[in-house]
Amino acid sequence: MGILRNITSNLRIIRLSLIRNNNTIIMARRLHASRTDGVDKNVWVEFTKLAAEYKVVNLGQGFPDFSPPKFVQDAFCKAVSGGYQMHQYTRAFGHPPLVKNMAKFFSRVVGHEIDPFEDILVTVGAYQALFSTFQALVDEGDEVIIVEPFFDCYQPMVKMAGGTALYVPLRPKADGAILSSGDWVLNPEELESKITPQTKAIVINTPNNPLGKVYKTEELQMIADLCIKHDMLCISDEVYEWLTYDGSKHVKIASLPGMWERTITIGSGGKTFSATGWKVGWAIGAGHIIKHMKTIHQNTVYHCATAAQEAVAQGFEREYEVFGTPESYFKQLPAMLYHKRNKLAECLRSVGLQPIMPEGGYFMIADISSVKVDLSGESTTELYDFRFVKWLIKEKGLATIPVSAFYSPEHSKEFDKYVRFCFVKEDSTIDAAGEILKKWSEGQ
Ligand code: PMP
Ligand code: GLN
Repeated sequence: MGILRNITSNLRIIRLSLIRNNNTIIMARRLHASRTDGVDKNVWVEFTKLAAEYKVVNLGQGFPDFSPPKFVQDAFCKAVSGGYQMHQYTRAFGHPPLVKNMAKFFSRVVGHEIDPFEDILVTVGAYQALFSTFQALVDEGDEVIIVEPFFDCYQPMVKMAGGTALYVPLRPKADGAILSSGDWVLNPEELESKITPQTKAIVINTPNNPLGKVYKTEELQMIADLCIKHDMLCISDEVYEWLTYDGSKHVKIASLPGMWERTITIGSGGKTFSATGWKVGWAIGAGHIIKHMKTIHQNTVYHCATAAQEAVAQGFEREYEVFGTPESYFKQLPAMLYHKRNKLAECLRSVGLQPIMPEGGYFMIADISSVKVDLSGESTTELYDFRFVKWLIKEKGLATIPVSAFYSPEHSKEFDKYVRFCFVKEDSTIDAAGEILKKWSEGQ
């Protein structure tokens, strides 16, 4: 009993820390929980602030600088100007019209009958779908494999759930010129070598942010085979699912044989309908998995804004009717972005930058190692791309995002010579960025 008391009191002391108060060092209870340690830096917080401060041409953060399609805007306006219900709570796990319309829509896409009330969880953006996934499915001591480059929040979310993240990078193919995101591939042996009995899940993102890679069926099949062989879950972030170019086809890993039962597919109404501020997202998967995510959700945010869910519900209803026709927004948006992608690539090439052509998504990365700039004014403790992007914001008024932010600390140094440009922007914004690059290359 005495020994136990000693251990308990020692543990309490560890939770105390030294703080300075009027120049006197005192012992105080540490106010924060250790799960926030080491995850306090956030690339979006840092660079959104900097971009606002310098009033830049913004090809940084991934949001459209144009309006959502009229049919969802009208649906939102109708919702907020309708009856009182649209301003009140709705069903915790998703507004009924939304989950019904999504089930109808996605059953056709996945090739599996989706139950609106069992297999879907509507969340506050894809962010909260990811958070609920990791909280509900990852235990202390579990390992999660993340394919790099990855959307930065996966790593802190795994950590906050008590898990350990392991990383496997997509690498440029060893032979030939690297011109397209399709030239970046996974090494199946390297991936399998990371799997241990503790591995709970693998996280993929297709189309990928920031690279734009759209995984081919064979690549997804290789991942699916490993998931089945090693009894792992697959968390598949597909927020850019409608945005593919040059004949690339988005394939849902959940649609491969044996994968529905073990895949959580994450989506975003913000990306789907160009309305990132509405913060409607979702997770779709087998009811026996989703039910644990519902437990996290009901005890954290409960549900997201009713009117925004209603507007997204109307959006899916309309898209169901026009699916596959030229009227579909899921055809019109990629057609529009295809031109913007090419316009941006042209701008970059005209000043000697070599972009990696994305097969999908909102973003394009380019190698900056040939660009000569004097970065002596920037902090030497930061990676090259962070220093470069800060310099570009401050000196040239152009915002982009450093690509090493999408890598783990162990691999970030290897990939710090790329920056990410966002092209879901008005043509005039891309032209303004092109002007900045042109003047710079002409020495003005
Ligand atoms: N996943 C990826 C790959 C993203 O790029 C983003 C940012 N849009 C998210 C998830 C979060 O999406 P949301 O804005 O719907 O929370
Ligand atoms: N997903 C967006 C991007 O990649 C940004 C998300 C955010 O700002 N937190 O640009």
